[in-house]
Amino acid sequence: MNPCQRRLLPLLVSALALIGCALRACHAGAAESDPQIRLDADYPGGNILVERMDGDKIHIRQDLRDTSTWWFWWNFRVRGAAGRTLTFQFAGENPIGVLGPALSRDDGGSWSWLGAESAQGALFRYAFAPQESSVRFAFAVPYQQSDFDAFVAAHQERVTRGQLQISRLCQSRKGRPVPLIHVAEPQGEPSFRVLVTARHHACESMASFVLEGLLRAFLVDTESADWLRRHVELIAVPFVDCDGVADGDQGKNRTPRDHNRDYAGTSIYPETAAIRAMASAWVDGKLTVALDLHCPWIRGPHNDVIYMVGSSLESVASEQKMFAEILERVRTGPLVYRAADNLPFGQAWNTATNFSQGMSFARWAGELEAVKLSTTFEIPYAAAGGTPVTPENARAFGQDLAAALRVYLLRSRKPGQVHLIRQTGPCEMRAICATVFCDTSSSGVRRSRRRW
Ligand SMILES: [Zn+2]
Repeated sequence: MNPCQRRLLPLLVSALALIGCALRACHAGAAESDPQIRLDADYPGGNILVERMDGDKIHIRQDLRDTSTWWFWWNFRVRGAAGRTLTFQFAGENPIGVLGPALSRDDGGSWSWLGAESAQGALFRYAFAPQESSVRFAFAVPYQQSDFDAFVAAHQERVTRGQLQISRLCQSRKGRPVPLIHVAEPQGEPSFRVLVTARHHACESMASFVLEGLLRAFLVDTESADWLRRHVELIAVPFVDCDGVADGDQGKNRTPRDHNRDYAGTSIYPETAAIRAMASAWVDGKLTVALDLHCPWIRGPHNDVIYMVGSSLESVASEQKMFAEILERVRTGPLVYRAADNLPFGQAWNTATNFSQGMSFARWAGELEAVKLSTTFEIPYAAAGGTPVTPENARAFGQDLAAALRVYLLRSRKPGQVHLIRQTGPCEMRAICATVFCDTSSSGVRRSRRRW
């Protein structure tokens, strides 16, 4: 092909694409203007609308579906572009996060951030290596049912021992089984109950890695995990908006209301109705913590740090304060958490107006008898306190949450509710004892025990 033909061809395919778009609604599917390049979202979590292709520039937009406001989740695959440099231009507001797109060169097996320098406003560029036949790009690292299945498979031994059970919470509107996780020592005497939910908003994928880390803290082979399994019964719903996660929906601000505004009156989603029915009976008077894991807005103040959303219930807000202090002090993972970053009720977006469509999970759980602490965590998609958020360090934050839970539960217990740490060797919790409760000059295990 000579240079002249090379210039004319894109114009021709562009014109054809425009005619094509005029004749039918543009939708997710192949970018038909260049037969070599195939751009699609035909896999779990996929989301893209292809508008047209102008040479090496592809015009796309995220699919909002039933979202009532602008939102920013997208996740697509490009094939047939090996050796080419393409520009992906989004229509409308900029839906690219602070570290650019997340990128996978192995069909979603592993992901990395492409980097802020790859993006310019609402477009990003990518130079496909000569051997790259298929590359996925997404707003953030996706987390799908297959990731959850892999997590469970990696802990098969705990399943065999009955310490980890996966059952079905309910059936989704589209007929999918909605998984329910149960973690406890079958022979244990749980004094505490912890209820964890994630993906009330389908696109908030980073929250799922935090949930994995939290679960892992219960399933590893350590004294701390052993204690958690013996004293805490944990139930988790990993995909509250199960259909939305599978279909690649935004999930946030659905019409007429989204899953996290579905806890007042009669629930319109089977998952939220099932959580309400299950949890109300399950807490059964035992000290319960309810954690709801989310990701915030795309960028800006309150969106680039991990924080808790302050409860409008005074008693819960004071428990949040205590938990925040503990978490800040026990955290060892790379993602920083500062209690000062929490967003008290009445400030910024956290006002009654934000909940006019209905009650959130955290507010609903906070009103259950026996629930002392009910809180929403917001985990940024891309950068937290200047540190890039990755699956691994999001999992580490989940482990930090578990460490904080242990301290919080012990501190909140009623007299005689739980035995002290039973051990004969050196106290594994000494670092935490020293940090949170003990005089740092304390050197003896006995003294640490007494302080518990
Ligand atoms: Zn959310």
